[in-house]
Amino acid sequence: MYGNFQNHLAVELAAIEQAGLYKHERIIVTPQQAAIKVQAGQEALNFCANNYLGLSNHPQVIRAAQEAMNERGYGMSSVRFICGTQDLHKELEAAISRYFRTDDAILYAACFDANGGVFEPLFDEHDAIISDALNHASIIDGVRLCKAQRYRYANADMDELENCLKTAQAQRYRIIVTDGVFSMDGNVAPVDKICALAEKYHALVMVDESHSAGVVGKTGRGVSEYFDAYGKIDIYTGTLGKAFGGAIGGFTTGHKEIIALLRQRSRPYLFSNSLPPAVVKAGLEVFKLLDESNELHARQQENVRYFRDKMQAAGFDIKPTQSAICAVMLYDANLSQDFAARMLDEGIYVVGFYYPVVPKGQARIRVQLSAAHEKAHLDKAIEAFVKVGKALKVV
Ligand SMILES: *Cc1c(COP(=O)(O)O)cnc(C)c1O
Repeated sequence: MYGNFQNHLAVELAAIEQAGLYKHERIIVTPQQAAIKVQAGQEALNFCANNYLGLSNHPQVIRAAQEAMNERGYGMSSVRFICGTQDLHKELEAAISRYFRTDDAILYAACFDANGGVFEPLFDEHDAIISDALNHASIIDGVRLCKAQRYRYANADMDELENCLKTAQAQRYRIIVTDGVFSMDGNVAPVDKICALAEKYHALVMVDESHSAGVVGKTGRGVSEYFDAYGKIDIYTGTLGKAFGGAIGGFTTGHKEIIALLRQRSRPYLFSNSLPPAVVKAGLEVFKLLDESNELHARQQENVRYFRDKMQAAGFDIKPTQSAICAVMLYDANLSQDFAARMLDEGIYVVGFYYPVVPKGQARIRVQLSAAHEKAHLDKAIEAFVKVGKALKVV
């Protein structure tokens, strides 16, 4: 039987390769940090990790994980509601809701699961989900699993959102869903305007804070802090896999009734394993660190400003950013690939993005700044950008 199917897969794989869309994995042989080494022995400065606060290899976070391993073992071998809930899990959920100033929080194996399990328990065919066109794949999949009517508006387009809201008055309940920061441009969703429209048209609001929490806002607490929108956002989802340590884990946080119902009905929560103690205790350490000091966030913000200003001064076209993501616009797909390859030769690891990940003619190099970057790292990256930019006649 496999023969025919095997041929079919081989054709598919060849088509992906031929379209230039095949994703090859680069092997890293060091911890995730600013200076990494890849398997070929080559050293590089990493500017493409979601390690926004430099916590992926932070000694205090590692120590917390080691302590939890010693005290609470390795795995839970259970979902939460059977025998998979330790005191640590409840403490981390409390820490997350303190951080976002919400009633309660619920942990998942990943934010992909949080988004996959948030809509179906709360909404049905009588309701409407109104989603930004650039929302993350996990939101799109979560919406697909729910019977609610689906509406989509162009990225951050408030006129289109308003039109959707008008049509969706036909449904019982409405929820507007948006990423907090969009990963390709680094723009923050206009949550202030979204909340105003939500109020006018009686809709709930959900924000996925995966790229925004730990980054945007005066102390990095996400879009509510950035827009002073506390009390106006009903549901937040987020990840422990980016700014908050980078290991694994996701969460949904918001009103207590919403979280209570998710604990009863959300399928990725009910039917998937509980987070391991080491990950949970390390997560607690992350929120403790961020409570005690704003130093990491401040450094991360300063690094964004420094990099952006120097790159603009050097003549590069940088998308306006309000996050840790800096899009260096090159527009041409081949140029972006060539540019990224030459940057690696210069010891700078960045990735070129082009269609279909971004619109046609909008190819770019995405640079992600971190609190783990030192000034010397930034200077080396800028120097490499200028060298390669001159060689390729970009600047
Ligand atoms: C990264 C990301 C996710 C997925 O998070 P995981 O915890 O890695 O599953 C979900 N939503 C958004 C907006 C993201 O950027």
